Amino acid sequence: MAPIRWVWFSTALLFFCGAERAIAQTGSVLEVNPTIRKIVAEVSSDNIRMLVDKLASFGTRHTLSDTVSTTRGIGAARRWIKSEFEKYAAASGGRMKVAFHEALIPASRRIPHPTNLVNVVATLNPKNAAAEGPKRFLVVGGHYDSRAADVMDAAIDAPGANDDGSGTAVTMELARVLSRHNFDATIVFIAFAGEEQGLLGATAWAEMARANGWNLEAMLNNDMVGSTRNGLGEEETGAVRLYAEALTPLDTGSVLRSRNSLGLENDGLSRTLARHITEVGKKYVPDFDVRIIYRRDRFLRGGDHTPFHERGFAAVRFVEVKENYDHQHQNVRVEGGKQYGDLPQFVDYEYAGKIAKVNAAVVASLASAPAPPKNVGLVTSQLGYKSTLRWEKNPELDVAGYVVRYRETTSLVWQGSVFTADTTITVDQSKDDYLFGVQAVDREGNVSLVITPRPVQ
Ligand SMILES: [Zn+2]
Repeated sequence: MAPIRWVWFSTALLFFCGAERAIAQTGSVLEVNPTIRKIVAEVSSDNIRMLVDKLASFGTRHTLSDTVSTTRGIGAARRWIKSEFEKYAAASGGRMKVAFHEALIPASRRIPHPTNLVNVVATLNPKNAAAEGPKRFLVVGGHYDSRAADVMDAAIDAPGANDDGSGTAVTMELARVLSRHNFDATIVFIAFAGEEQGLLGATAWAEMARANGWNLEAMLNNDMVGSTRNGLGEEETGAVRLYAEALTPLDTGSVLRSRNSLGLENDGLSRTLARHITEVGKKYVPDFDVRIIYRRDRFLRGGDHTPFHERGFAAVRFVEVKENYDHQHQNVRVEGGKQYGDLPQFVDYEYAGKIAKVNAAVVASLASAPAPPKNVGLVTSQLGYKSTLRWEKNPELDVAGYVVRYRETTSLVWQGSVFTADTTITVDQSKDDYLFGVQAVDREGNVSLVITPRPVQ
């Protein structure tokens, strides 16, 4: 039955996506992989609810709060997160390793005395790590620390159900589901500390990954993914925002000049990842919209994707559409008959579950896909009516071929695709008028991230 259903599904999708007609011969970009669909179906909003309730039960998870108590404060919270990760690891056949990643942070604006910051990290390795070629990493995370109105108050209740119990729970639920499956890339699930004190935990981990030269393909930050009703009573249950910044501090000098002159300001790593997420989301969670916002984050707010982006990694942030200021960074209280505070009762678990499903589809499919193709070039040595691209052959044995994507320079999404099993292709679209990208695809239809070509002779 399965092959027939695939054909039907891709035909149905093609009917609605006329612009992607070129895929008809290959099925690759739009084809649904039944294994990924199964993984997405295993994500449970009931589990997310249980995890958020437990996280909120620690009273506060402020970075400077009690580390000794077994029931209250950040120490108890991180030991519990670690013990949950270890439960999932036990079912992974030794592939998932769990550890605290610690960093001693010197005194700073929001750290009154040197403080040991502790990220909780679960690393899911491929079954045949050695056989899969160079190691590739994917990161999904949320921050487990919380705060109330005063960012320095470590004693007051700060349940942090949505900020960021929701993102931490999504990360944990993904670790539970994905640990029971096998992938080609290493997936790292991180509960970050010190976000509210200045993105400290994420900065320490991202800096460690950079210093080690890790091949980190994508970082998905989930920070506040459970509110569906804002303070005006407006509701949105069918979409999530995805913040993606353009340039990084590394895009200076000749790199910046080249990006500007070629019109590649929207084709940096983070925006390319964001575009990929919308495509995969549409494929596996079709009743839910991922709305890209071409910005770092909201005004007056920041998130743990930024230290990754700034180190040259592709990194984006999921955040609800209708955030509610009565339930974030507030002291828990009733005022004028109104309940304030970041309490579990204001988290929409069905909604957080859908965002978790989008994350699961993206991470599982990227971790199953081949590495992105290397040395992708657009031949610019001659005037010509058509465009020629070439790239290096991928080393993986299950690579079916490559999908060349194209779009007009003002289009935010890919408009067309051509499949080839070769490592060079000439397409009808003029290099003067179009942007291009190339992605590798395996025999199950798992596509890699898109690589933007460099001009070559
Ligand atoms: Zn947050």
